[in-house]
Amino acid sequence: MIRKKSREEIKLMRHAGHIVALVHQKMKEVVEPGISTKELDEIAMKVIKENRAVPTFLGYNGFPACICTSINEQVVHGIPSEKAILKDGDIIAIDVGATYRGLVGDSAWSYAVGNVSDDIKRLMKATEESLYAGIDKMRPGNVLDDISGAVEDVALKYGYGIVRQYGGHGVGHQMHEEPFLYNYRVGDKTLIKSGYAIAIEPMLNMGCDEVSVALDEWTVSTVDRKPSAHFEHTVVATDDGPQIMTKLME
Ligand code: MG
Ligand code: MG
Repeated sequence: MIRKKSREEIKLMRHAGHIVALVHQKMKEVVEPGISTKELDEIAMKVIKENRAVPTFLGYNGFPACICTSINEQVVHGIPSEKAILKDGDIIAIDVGATYRGLVGDSAWSYAVGNVSDDIKRLMKATEESLYAGIDKMRPGNVLDDISGAVEDVALKYGYGIVRQYGGHGVGHQMHEEPFLYNYRVGDKTLIKSGYAIAIEPMLNMGCDEVSVALDEWTVSTVDRKPSAHFEHTVVATDDGPQIMTKLME
């Protein structure tokens, strides 16, 4: 069952989302060649704790860190490590979750490390564009397939692969609530209602759609080893249009 969020719940999600956005603001500053993903995790943890929130990912199904860091061909769920050191030309997707007074904000962003190729810039631009195309459909009266189709159309326009096994999700008191949201059309006619909160999160691949999970049982990578990008916002459908929770409050 998809549960509508109350005004009070949305207020708390907005606060959680602000904290997630603060982490991303910090990540944007510190992502550079030479830093390890372990250091990024420590910095993220500090920001979340300073803001009296809880890192949602830490311990989630046993995940050992508070952010996911996925470099180049890694798509999602990469585990921060002192051995994973960013190099000039890399692309890194950082996924952040924060829980504030029981409500969750979830947002991922891809960052260029130093100077990246035009191909990577194009992949990042396309994936971000597909996110906002999806967000624009997060309106009462639309159906889930409208969001999925908007994401798919952007991916097709650029000729990129779409990750099939992972997608967006309802979010609120739990990080993963109903419904599941595909990043391509599946004919899901579930009606979007005012108060629904969904994390919309396209993952686009420079090459083929296929991905596989590493032996660490977390890290998802493209099977052709070509780069992937990931952008995500937590969004609430309201009568005034889509409201992004995971951005800085004015
Ligand atoms: Mg996320
Ligand atoms: Mg998510």
